[in-house]
Amino acid sequence: MNLIIFGPPGAGKGTQSNNIISNFNLKQVSTGDLLRSEIKNQTDLGKKIESIINNGELVSDDVVNTLIRKIISDSNNFNRLIFDGYPRSISQAYRLEKLLKEFNQKISIVLNLKVDKDVVSKRVNGRVICIKCFRIFNVYLNPPNSKNHKCEKKYLEKRTDDNSKTVLNRYETYVAKSKPILDYYNKKELLLEIDGNQKIVEIYDKIKGILENIRDWHYVCFLYKFLWKNLTSLIYGSYSRYQYPSR
Ligand code: AMP
Repeated sequence: MNLIIFGPPGAGKGTQSNNIISNFNLKQVSTGDLLRSEIKNQTDLGKKIESIINNGELVSDDVVNTLIRKIISDSNNFNRLIFDGYPRSISQAYRLEKLLKEFNQKISIVLNLKVDKDVVSKRVNGRVICIKCFRIFNVYLNPPNSKNHKCEKKYLEKRTDDNSKTVLNRYETYVAKSKPILDYYNKKELLLEIDGNQKIVEIYDKIKGILENIRDWHYVCFLYKFLWKNLTSLIYGSYSRYQYPSR
């Protein structure tokens, strides 16, 4: 299954994606992480997009669509992607659908984490990320300690765009762009809303239940198709043998 995890900055998309990965055989693709790694490696693209990201604006569709195409076209990622931070505009949503079609795939569900503005601000201001294991923590709500984090403290960093000024801009951008995307997936009956203000474990419990149901349903469909194909060829095969016995 492929899924989209949707919501404003600080909704917990990355945190929940990490949890999903540890229980389901899926792979997270975060356009934010991909773009930040371009900046970190000081590539030509990285130099171009650094100020855009630090201002909390969106990078051009062409840039992100190209990054996403590379990931979807990789056969190791077939039908096992969690899209985190993509699509972020309706044109990206159209593009995603086209790309998935091209590679014989589709979206199984869009999980929309709904979070209040004041919660977003607290979460983003307290966020720290381990640049070694990529786990996400929050110094107020989910601080790293020897039990939940094995890497050295020196790997914990704050994102340069995680500050009070940029977060407001990022939140406003989200509000302006999200409605048509949510309407689009709602019409397709793929949208499921989750209260993202709750604790991490409570949110994950809900997500886990939803994904287990989808996974079970996929197994049932697979089994049905398998049996249908094999039983019909078995029945048809014996029927032809009866009609035309071999000598
Ligand atoms: P995130 O890590 O998802 O919070 O993204 C951090 C920043 O990367 C955003 O504020 C944007 O500047 C940029 N970005 C991430 N994903 C996208 C996207 N799908 N389209 C455009 N810009 C993006």
